Amino acid sequence: MYKSFHREIIHGKCIDISSEGKGVVKEKGKIIFVSGLFLYEEADIEILYSRAGVYFGRVSKLYKSSPYRVQPKCLVCTACGGCTYQQIAYSEQLKYKQNRVYNSLKRLGDIDTKVNETIGMDNPYNYRNKIQIPLGYDNKNHIISGFYRERSHEIIPINECAIEDKRASKIIKTIKELMPSFKMYPYDEDRRTGLLRHILIRTSYYKEEIMVVLVSSKQTWAGRSNFVKELVLRCPEITTIVSNTNSRDTNVILGEKEEVLYGKGYIEDSLCGLVFQISSKSFYQTNPVQTEKLYQIAIQNGNFTKDDIVLDAYSGIGTIGLIVSKNVNKVYSVEIVKEATKDAINNAKRNNINNVEFFNDDAGDFLVKSKSINRKIDVVIMDPPRNGSDNKFLSCLLEYSPRKIIYISCEPSTLARDLKQLKSKYMVSSVQPVDMFPMTPHVETVALLVHKDSKK
Ligand code: SAH
Repeated sequence: MYKSFHREIIHGKCIDISSEGKGVVKEKGKIIFVSGLFLYEEADIEILYSRAGVYFGRVSKLYKSSPYRVQPKCLVCTACGGCTYQQIAYSEQLKYKQNRVYNSLKRLGDIDTKVNETIGMDNPYNYRNKIQIPLGYDNKNHIISGFYRERSHEIIPINECAIEDKRASKIIKTIKELMPSFKMYPYDEDRRTGLLRHILIRTSYYKEEIMVVLVSSKQTWAGRSNFVKELVLRCPEITTIVSNTNSRDTNVILGEKEEVLYGKGYIEDSLCGLVFQISSKSFYQTNPVQTEKLYQIAIQNGNFTKDDIVLDAYSGIGTIGLIVSKNVNKVYSVEIVKEATKDAINNAKRNNINNVEFFNDDAGDFLVKSKSINRKIDVVIMDPPRNGSDNKFLSCLLEYSPRKIIYISCEPSTLARDLKQLKSKYMVSSVQPVDMFPMTPHVETVALLVHKDSKK
């Protein structure tokens, strides 16, 4: 339950950074998490709400600022809440992330181990290859697009986001300009009027391919094909347009129904020398430059032999398993989303790879079934979503006892929780944070676990 407050202001000093990347202040018996407050800064903090005994606030007046504070590129970065770290020097962001991984492992996993320096980007802006943006009106009734203010449905207008691919900003601007003349209006959630709910854009890094998904409340509308023609005329860089219908009252962006309006309905991109097909609903890493670095670390950690049988668990469209396949005997790839598994199978064909077997299943169920038929597995690569793995998978993994486990994680707290369970049989041999999400508090980590029984 959330509790709201009426502008209670507390003066305090930031003594730590929370696992979500907020500044931590302890004052008047309260623990307060503050967005955009950095280590050792002092400020008046406006308390916004409380949850489970802790308080959340924002800076109302800064008294002492960090020597690493910089002018953000995007002026709405504090209101939007997406990339609050834009206010701190990039070198410092990388240190914060390294500390965050270290602290999570120590506090939540009881693991006191060296954490390598975070691998950063040369140019940490405009890296995102996937943009999903809601549409609405400003108070002058102009069509706007932007991001929701934290914990609200108010849209903060943004014309050029500092972390998204610049080609996407131009397309969004063109769509907004065209909408009124085609009588296409933003969807209003309260009145349930209007048409366009979200625009989703996926850009390919290595190929000149861009997908636009128009998420609308109705399956079709008058003037749809003329709109598509005009959009492609003005933005010839678009290679495919998909219509996605979402008529439900929901926070989930994409609906079930899709129709290809232009092009082939998906885009292709390359990663580590292979080509991947990506459709609107499949998970695909959002930072292509850093993904290659991340996967290379995972592969180096594997130190595979040609006899190895590898499990790629939580495999998405099959990227890691397919890239590893040429170094090993065989790969099992398991993924729960049907569309992603379909993409993965096509990706194997597209790259002439024959030693990867795909399973559309829950990773834990797959492992339990594999154990029951004595399927051999030497090394496990696991890359679960933010909430981490589950007991079914982890306890069966301990029974399996592969030689090595390469755990890729996008959330240090769940990584720590899961490693705490695995450390009964494994040593944490290296921990490497990779900055997949510059300007935001998020961090990706590759942890290498080696079986304590060295004969393995
Ligand atoms: N390894 C991939 C995908 C990582 S994202 C890559 O690098 O691109 C995590 C993936 O786990 C998503 O594709 C998600 O659909 C899948 N997933 C979530 N829960 C799962 C479960 N219980 N079993 C198997 N896959 C799951």
